[in-house]
Amino acid sequence: MNKPVIGITGAFVDHNLYMKGVYVSEDYHISVANSGGIPIVLPFFDPELSLETLKLCDGIILSGGEDVDPFYYGQEPHQKLGRTIPLRDEVEIAIVNTALENNIPILAICRGVQLLNVALGGTLIQDIPSQVKDSIMHEQHSRGQERNRATHWAEITENSKLHQILGESKVRVNSLHHQALDHVADELEVVAVASDGIVEAVEHKSSLFTIGLQWHPESLSSKDPIMKKLFDQLIQASRKI
Ligand code: MN
Repeated sequence: MNKPVIGITGAFVDHNLYMKGVYVSEDYHISVANSGGIPIVLPFFDPELSLETLKLCDGIILSGGEDVDPFYYGQEPHQKLGRTIPLRDEVEIAIVNTALENNIPILAICRGVQLLNVALGGTLIQDIPSQVKDSIMHEQHSRGQERNRATHWAEITENSKLHQILGESKVRVNSLHHQALDHVADELEVVAVASDGIVEAVEHKSSLFTIGLQWHPESLSSKDPIMKKLFDQLIQASRKI
């Protein structure tokens, strides 16, 4: 059986003058490969080129990384806004629209779910600790906790696609985000929340497979068979019939 090609969007790294470029954590590659797909890294220096690279892909992962520029959801920058890369935003917004038009499955992770929401007209909470009263700890990395450790619960909506995939109504997730979805785009439905009400997952109401997660399943899937199912299903949905 043909292995589907999964395009993974990259973050920007700037190690020094001689080492600038696109970065994708190996956790994504390993998760895709372990579920039977071929991972490739997408460049992001040109929106038009990114749509050409999309033609090579059977499925897409919108990966984690920088904050989305609040310009794209009509807000001014909050004091605690992190680094933004407007070109990456522009490229990924184009990818979302084209992937949805062409029924290409999307798994959107962390920044990815935020970008997905913004691309479809939603807004973000720019900084959870300063903007959400009584929020729980969503930035485990800031306390030195490894990214492959689950630290809080997410409650999954019964009868959602996500519920069908995971087969659980509550899962333990890792959490490495200081932003979250605020106004959720009309085309999306919230399918998981944390105990403080923060949106932890959404899915597209009409597309075959467009799921967004605020946690990082790629860093859990090697040890957690429940999280591996997300990649199994992405690869399954990306297979050409
Ligand atoms: Mn969280």
